[in-house]
Amino acid sequence: MAPDRILTNASFVADGDRPIRAVAVSGQRIRGLGDLDEVKDTVAATAEVVDLGGGVAFPGFADSHVHAVNYGRSRMGVPCWPSDVSSVGDITGRVADADRTLPAGRWIKGRGYDPARLAEGRAPTASELDLPGGRCVVLDSFDFHRRVANHAALAAAGIGAGTPDPPDGEIVRDEHGDPTGELLDGARALMDPVVPPWSEEEDEQAIEIATDYFLSHGFAYVTNAAPLTMSHRGEEVAAFLRMSERRALRLRFTSMIRAELLDAAGDLGLRPGVGGPNFRVGGAKVFSDGAFGPRTAAMLEPYSDSGTSGTMHIDLGELEETIRKGARIGWQMSIHAIGDAAVETVAGLLAAHPPAGGTRSHRIEHCCLTSADAVRFMRQGGIIPVPQLSFMRFRAPAFLAALGEERLAAMYPLRTWIDAGLKPVHSSDTPVIPDAAPMAAMATATARVDASGRVWGAGEGVGFDEALATMTAWPAEADGQSGDRGRIATGYLADFTVLPSDPRPLPPDEMAETAPVMTIVGGDVAWRSESLS
Ligand SMILES: [Zn+2]
Repeated sequence: MAPDRILTNASFVADGDRPIRAVAVSGQRIRGLGDLDEVKDTVAATAEVVDLGGGVAFPGFADSHVHAVNYGRSRMGVPCWPSDVSSVGDITGRVADADRTLPAGRWIKGRGYDPARLAEGRAPTASELDLPGGRCVVLDSFDFHRRVANHAALAAAGIGAGTPDPPDGEIVRDEHGDPTGELLDGARALMDPVVPPWSEEEDEQAIEIATDYFLSHGFAYVTNAAPLTMSHRGEEVAAFLRMSERRALRLRFTSMIRAELLDAAGDLGLRPGVGGPNFRVGGAKVFSDGAFGPRTAAMLEPYSDSGTSGTMHIDLGELEETIRKGARIGWQMSIHAIGDAAVETVAGLLAAHPPAGGTRSHRIEHCCLTSADAVRFMRQGGIIPVPQLSFMRFRAPAFLAALGEERLAAMYPLRTWIDAGLKPVHSSDTPVIPDAAPMAAMATATARVDASGRVWGAGEGVGFDEALATMTAWPAEADGQSGDRGRIATGYLADFTVLPSDPRPLPPDEMAETAPVMTIVGGDVAWRSESLS
């Protein structure tokens, strides 16, 4: 067990007005708080004193929806993010480099391409990704709604001119009807049976990469929102469990399972909440619609730049049956719903089927646009919205064309939700948005300002303490752990996010720039910024 510690030289943001300058920690939990002399008696006399550099310590921040394993993998394959490449030529160059270094027979996997941000304004084609040795190449887009494969990979999956589109996706075709290489939404799954799975060792390596990333952004808790890829093997939960068993997790994780695994999980007695302080099984994830980028999120009114309104990606009877099945055995159902039509439908179904005997409420992941009916259903069911203010911050210009000004200003209506008694939880959806910075999200939650300085729906802004609750107390409640985390109080886990100074009086642009300097998990300094000497 870790030795006792006293954390000092910081201003701790705890309940009440009493200034807290020191916290004593034993067995990962807070044993005393006050000033240094006061807390000394609550732990062993040999307790190590840790200097927090004069910063401001908040309860450890939580990011309630990320794809941790996908993030790690995205840094392991060929990175094709807008920060890495600016043209199709850059991508083919990187693929050619990988072709020279990888052993024969290995697939080249890559991640992050955004057709709109490549010089050509389109994805690479299968032909452009073909390699002289015939190696298979498959690249996923930044938002996991697109995937492009070369001819070797298409052939391996048996995808050709005669392959029909699946009901929930599209094989993009040229004027002769031949696949161009791009597979949209559900069509990506046609590739899954032939893409070689990542090994157990690679899964753990991905979790390590993600751990370093989130700790360095000040997060002590992360909810893994199930794989973005279509594989249903449960390998992510298995990797977390192996690492948890070895006490190798340095960050506290919750992981959802995909709802397709509910029966298998039930057979094994796997229940939400199973695990220990560093890893717990979370909810069961279901996709109900698409996304704004490809105009596939299900809307009540058509997109502003096309006659389409998107569509639900799942049969409603099947969705209700899945929710009913999960709720009956106490699962927190976590439903991906983005468009206002999808959110309204999902909220109605969730409100009708609360989790049995549950300490956790159902969640709506993304929950971008909520009609008055949707908010009413959510209030009835105590449903948790899981927004990503980072999308408003970084993708407002891209969403403007799809949604128009009015709908964009109504996106993520935190004020409306909180006034209705809902308790939204912050999330970044990393790696879909390649920036998890918590204070940037906080600045957008309070001032509704995007990265260019434009304000969207100022009336939906919330106070700092409310924005903070979306990263601390409310995620703890969402995970059924209100008595364990989310506050700085005696008996709570000693998890802290340390900022260099108090962000509360700062204007939004300066608040957004404030980066955490230390992340403390169970009293251990799990990460410290190089800016601290
Ligand atoms: Zn996601």
